[in-house]
Amino acid sequence: MASMKPNHVVVMAFPYGTHAIPLFNVVRRFAIQAPSLTFSFFSTSKSNQSVFGTSSPNDIPRNIKPYNVDDGESFTGHPKNEVFSFIKSMVEKFKNGVDSVYGGHDKMIKCFISDTFLYFVSDMADQMGVPWVSFWAGGPCSLSAHFHTDLIRLSIPLGPNEIEGREEEPMDFVPGLSFVKIGDLPDGVLFGGWESELAVMLHKTGLALPRAAATTMNSFAELDLPTLEYLKSESVKCLPMGPFTLTSQNLSHAHDDPHGCLTWLDKQNPTSVAYISFGTMSTPPPHELAALAEGLEESGVPFIWSLKDHLVSQLPNGFLERTRNRGFTAPWTPQERILKHNAVGVFVTHCGWNSVMESIMAGVPMICRPCFGDQRINCRLVSDVWGIGTRVKDGVFTKDETMKCLDMIFSEEKLREKVGALRGFAKHAVGPNGSSTKNVNTLAEIVCKD
Ligand code: UDP
Repeated sequence: MASMKPNHVVVMAFPYGTHAIPLFNVVRRFAIQAPSLTFSFFSTSKSNQSVFGTSSPNDIPRNIKPYNVDDGESFTGHPKNEVFSFIKSMVEKFKNGVDSVYGGHDKMIKCFISDTFLYFVSDMADQMGVPWVSFWAGGPCSLSAHFHTDLIRLSIPLGPNEIEGREEEPMDFVPGLSFVKIGDLPDGVLFGGWESELAVMLHKTGLALPRAAATTMNSFAELDLPTLEYLKSESVKCLPMGPFTLTSQNLSHAHDDPHGCLTWLDKQNPTSVAYISFGTMSTPPPHELAALAEGLEESGVPFIWSLKDHLVSQLPNGFLERTRNRGFTAPWTPQERILKHNAVGVFVTHCGWNSVMESIMAGVPMICRPCFGDQRINCRLVSDVWGIGTRVKDGVFTKDETMKCLDMIFSEEKLREKVGALRGFAKHAVGPNGSSTKNVNTLAEIVCKD
């Protein structure tokens, strides 16, 4: 800490779900661009281990330094409990973490970059008179829903748990969200309780947004211009810099294939396989997993399934043996490479934002079974707005519905054409004069410039 010149960027990650790795990808880009700056990356030890611990040294620029904040209690039950407990004390945890490194030296800090969830960073940045760049781990529409939480609660006077029968009403009073139905809203905006740690955090997140110098995300402007324009008119400056599959070289371990998925795919016919994954935090209930398996079996469609070990017992008896010749399961897959493999013809997904972007970039249409959070809005975009996928009826897998959706995706060429067109826009966005390239330059002005 010899020099007092502000040449440090303090980064704070939300340590759950698929948040820390995409944030790391953002930071790595600026760290490479500005080697004289130090980027201090704060997260829990578990999260830092998943980003830094398994990466090859070539993946990590030397000017990014990980620091652990207190993990808090560890929980053995539902992962939600651990997340909620962390949120309850996260302000203190991050402030203590940053203080332990920069206490008395905060003049060295030139900028904060954090997950948008960490709304309190707006205060830390204000107190030091430096900019806050936030990273939103979803897309612009879910961001807009959180930004408009108060407006939505006022305009639809329902108690936090009463939407029964009104799920299909449109949200036409929020410009840019008219295609969204009440039932698509993320939990905690209107229904699902307003008092949980997560709902309170998201509410505060929405309120803090105009205080960010910029909010970036894994998206590209052409995917959702009206929402971005409207947010801008409300002082929320969004600068999407994706898709990350094109703009950031992924951590090499994300591409490892210890279970041999790609070798298996090499033996399949082009555009014939269904790839199934529900991301890192979501799982449909056991009866739906069983119904999905039955639909796959009866349809005869080859499949590759990212299925955690503890879920295998929820499959119908004998399913894996009977489908051995055309089915493959692994507890973790190199998803990006799988989706890009020419054998894959459809992605059965929970509609996590990263999964949706990766599917678009691979030109693969989707069957959507959203579970929570922003996934219902993402699903609405995929199925109704972009027309690059279909949603399982009533949001529930049954054997017949699974077969119907598979049949629809494999027979309708239109979906594949539309997803290919979106991929074209994405490639343009990251080109020399593309929107994402321009946004990266604007962000670099904030983060890297003296
Ligand atoms: N992923 C993967 N292999 C798997 C399951 C998931 O590589 O077996 C990756 C996937 O490529 C994506 C991320 O995990 O980048 C999941 O992110 P998403 O936003 O879709 O969902 P979340 O995990 O946040 O619910």
